[in-house]
Amino acid sequence: MGLNMRLDRARGNDHGGRAPDVVVVGAGIIGSIVALRLAQRGGSVTMVDRGVLGGEASTAAAGILGPQLEASGPGPLLDLALASRALYPKLAAELRGKTGIDVGFERCGALAVALDERGEVNLDERIGWQVARRLAVRRLSGDEARAVEPALGAAVRAALEFPDEARVDARALTRACVEAATDAGVRFLDGRRVRRVIVERGSAVGVDVEGERLAAGTVVIAAGSWSGLLEGADLPPLVVTPVRGQVVSLAAPPSLLQRIVAVHGRGYLVPRHDGTVLAGSTMEHVGFDKAVTVAGIARILSLATALTAWLADAPIAGSWSGFRPDTEDHLPLLGETASTRRLVFATGHFRNGILLAPITGQAIAELIASGRSSVDLTPFSIDRFAPAASAARATSPA
Ligand SMILES: Cc1cc2nc3c(=O)[nH]c(=O)nc-3n(C[C@H](O)[C@H](O)[C@H](O)COP(=O)(O)OP(=O)(O)OC[C@H]3O[C@@H](n4cnc5c(N)ncnc54)[C@H](O)[C@@H]3O)c2cc1C
Repeated sequence: MGLNMRLDRARGNDHGGRAPDVVVVGAGIIGSIVALRLAQRGGSVTMVDRGVLGGEASTAAAGILGPQLEASGPGPLLDLALASRALYPKLAAELRGKTGIDVGFERCGALAVALDERGEVNLDERIGWQVARRLAVRRLSGDEARAVEPALGAAVRAALEFPDEARVDARALTRACVEAATDAGVRFLDGRRVRRVIVERGSAVGVDVEGERLAAGTVVIAAGSWSGLLEGADLPPLVVTPVRGQVVSLAAPPSLLQRIVAVHGRGYLVPRHDGTVLAGSTMEHVGFDKAVTVAGIARILSLATALTAWLADAPIAGSWSGFRPDTEDHLPLLGETASTRRLVFATGHFRNGILLAPITGQAIAELIASGRSSVDLTPFSIDRFAPAASAARATSPA
């Protein structure tokens, strides 16, 4: 499901035949926003994607911007996600100004609902640390939840309301980032697979694109679920793995829901501007099998109709699947590696790549342009998976 847009301009940005300062591998939301921010800092950037623009996870996403819904507790991921959510209003306005595309950003709020006793215990655990952290959250009874979202059914026993959570149209966002990056001078090579990162004397010096050498000062790995398959990228093979998610789009009755409604560990409903409701999603370890399955859809629709019986008669408008780039500890991989200079990671965003895109773009562009990022990237370093390499670098001269 790539984005339909004219690519002639993007292909035409040729940097006068010079080698780019940076090659970004992967043109999903992460690669695009990193490329955009680097180009805005004056860098010459080439993005390479083996498929079409936004053909993978970034356009499959439901567009939930939900740090409070997603985090299991305080920690570096929550901090990163909150900082990224805060960047969204400005990013949406910037992209609209530059491209005319409305990315559908809205602070619509979210309800985390409980359908059983275990769910209620989970809500109690979550409200504790969120209040301590001074995040906006309110505990609702089932009836109070139905008062704010009248379509919710009797199965809803309790809820947490998060007024600051938001949504965006992930497809429009990815398209807008690619177009803005193109306008900023980024060159785009689509339908071209990067075979490997070329490393010489401990530094990344470019990539091999289907047998052709593309030299670059810095290489950024933003290849989503495929990042671990890139030769020379220095990633242990199973550090990034795909987790399939299936989504169903439903033509819901008008204004059925205002807020995102989520059930911990089971799924969610996301109301959209066009009147559809996205119902998601599965979490499946099936390799790169992109099928939309009967069992997956049945599970999603069973939760959707348990949340609101109004969806039972809704026509199915579409269905699709995508691969979340997961890591062993579910934290993204951001920043440099100890073993290879000029090689930078921006991958492994798992369930939150849309949410984390603005902060990732900012942090990675700062790091490449100035050698430092205003965000502490230590918890997201690849070296947490390779302590030996890290120690070796620490004891050797730069
Ligand atoms: C069903 C589903 C629902 C989701 N919902 C949400 C949500 O509500 N909120 C949220 O924040 N996140 C959500 N996510 C997660 C989010 O979509 C991802 O974290 C994010 O899109 C990852 O972006 P990316 O650019 O790293 O990867 P991708 O979008 O997968 O892009 C990677 C790109 O790299 C390219 N590539 C790979 N290998 C090579 C190679 N060798 N050479 C050249 N190109 C290569 C691919 O073709 C692809 O275009 C969801 C994901 C799924 C699947």
